[in-house]
Amino acid sequence: MQSLTHSSAPTVKYVSSITQFKPSAHLQVAIVGAGAAGLSCALHLHDRGIESAVFERDKVPSGSTALSSGFIPAPCTRLQVSMSIKDSVELFVSDLRRKSKGQGSQTLEVAYAGAVAKALDALELNHGFNWEILDQFLYPGHSVHRMHALAERTGQALMGRLQLTTDKLGIPVLTHSLVNEIWMHDDLVIGVGIQRSDGALEHYGCDALVLCCNGYGGNQELIKRYIPQMQNATFAGHIGNDGSAVIWGTQLGAELCDLGGYQGHGSWAVPHGILVTWALMIHGGIQLNALGERFHDETKGYSEAAVEVLKQPAGVAWCVFDESAYLHGLEFPDFKSADQAGAVLKFSNLAQLAESIGCDVQKIQQSLRSIDQAIVANKGEDKATGRIFKRALCIGDIGDVGDVGDVGDAQDSCVYAVKVTGALFHTQGGLNIDENAKVLKSGVGAFDNLYAAGGAARGVSGNEVWGYLSGNGLLSAFAGGYLAASSIHNAIKDKNSLKA
Ligand SMILES: Cc1cc2nc3c(=O)[nH]c(=O)nc-3n(C[C@H](O)[C@H](O)[C@H](O)COP(=O)(O)OP(=O)(O)OC[C@H]3O[C@@H](n4cnc5c(N)ncnc54)[C@H](O)[C@@H]3O)c2cc1C
Repeated sequence: MQSLTHSSAPTVKYVSSITQFKPSAHLQVAIVGAGAAGLSCALHLHDRGIESAVFERDKVPSGSTALSSGFIPAPCTRLQVSMSIKDSVELFVSDLRRKSKGQGSQTLEVAYAGAVAKALDALELNHGFNWEILDQFLYPGHSVHRMHALAERTGQALMGRLQLTTDKLGIPVLTHSLVNEIWMHDDLVIGVGIQRSDGALEHYGCDALVLCCNGYGGNQELIKRYIPQMQNATFAGHIGNDGSAVIWGTQLGAELCDLGGYQGHGSWAVPHGILVTWALMIHGGIQLNALGERFHDETKGYSEAAVEVLKQPAGVAWCVFDESAYLHGLEFPDFKSADQAGAVLKFSNLAQLAESIGCDVQKIQQSLRSIDQAIVANKGEDKATGRIFKRALCIGDIGDVGDVGDVGDAQDSCVYAVKVTGALFHTQGGLNIDENAKVLKSGVGAFDNLYAAGGAARGVSGNEVWGYLSGNGLLSAFAGGYLAASSIHNAIKDKNSLKA
């Protein structure tokens, strides 16, 4: 068994006297979930001399973090400054705000934008994380190049690095340990109940608890309730996104926010189930439906594209691109995997592409011609979708299917296509937290020693799919993990100074 599931629903247990709770051990900090948020939080705590233990339901930690591309946006890191990229916390906040149309939590926008560089710099300086900045193309909605990744550019490598580092430092990461119970005395967390693989229940006391167990993308009932438009969509995230944080939050009387917000993706290869990088679209690629028609502005964002693709016949589309975009795509490991898995189809002419899609070739020609016309007559603006084209696709060898005017330059070029659907990647709603990552009560104030980070907490995308700016997921994981660790450190310092 690779992953444990709750034998009974996640529960909050209240005791009227602390002596009623009998833990087998006591921890300074208990962390639920060994993804990016949980492991990075444990590392920042360790940097501050604070001991923690991370509880993880899986046999081998992976979470959605390992499934991700591992790209983290951060303004003003040491690396970005050394590359003379002009950025600021304010500019990042304004990008976040523009994308969410002002619907996101303003407190968290400022807190995350201010903390994420500190988090990445600390991982670099204290633990040797060798960040790189992806500067080949600008992610939709970001004003400057600020997307950080490890050299491997995969979430798997990112998880591997986090695990290796926690292992080396001897930070306990208890796997096959599903946190099922949170124990409370009034509004204070006093411990957790852990379900082990043999069914045994163990209890640990703790001074502070950090929920890093991500969202509810894998909980059908919660998706149906909060994001009904995605109830039939493929969920591409980790099975452990079972909504524990929201379920506990409801029992605790915590404030839950933005439950309709999520990250979708309009480019999930079918039937292969692999992410096809949106860089193809930014590099001139287009999406066609089963009728050979374009249906949206592909440069708006990959998240909202999920909904647009799902609205098309059979809920599918074809990402269509030229040789130049194909070669660009190969710089991304995910795309390489898709190519190796046979998801990327290559055609020597449009007739073959039309046959594969099952549509009339004239429709594809028409779609391409209107792009060409937009470039020639309208400064690139395609009036139907609002997309501004910077270049036409270089798709040639179209003589046998009729004259399509100026479509493409290279008359011998081939055309590439990947059949895709719209998928749900992760939810962006969750426990509302303050700027210190403390969980807020519904009503007034925060819980004193309960924190949330990453997908367990509310993100900065607001309540709609279009509010998601590329990287908002790992932003909240890394910034949230850092804020929780700093805040716990400050709380301990305050307690010690009171004692002195
Ligand atoms: C295909 C894909 C691509 C993505 N690409 C990007 C990207 O490039 N950039 C970006 O910013 N975001 C991306 N995301 C989103 C990103 O992966 C998540 O937002 C991020 O990983 C969340 O980190 P986390 O630590 O909160 O959660 P996770 O990494 O999911 O970790 C949570 C952990 O908690 C464990 N857990 C859950 N409940 C319990 C429990 N009760 N007891 C014990 N353990 C528990 C889970 O097993 C899991 O290991 C992508 C997502 C997907 C699916």
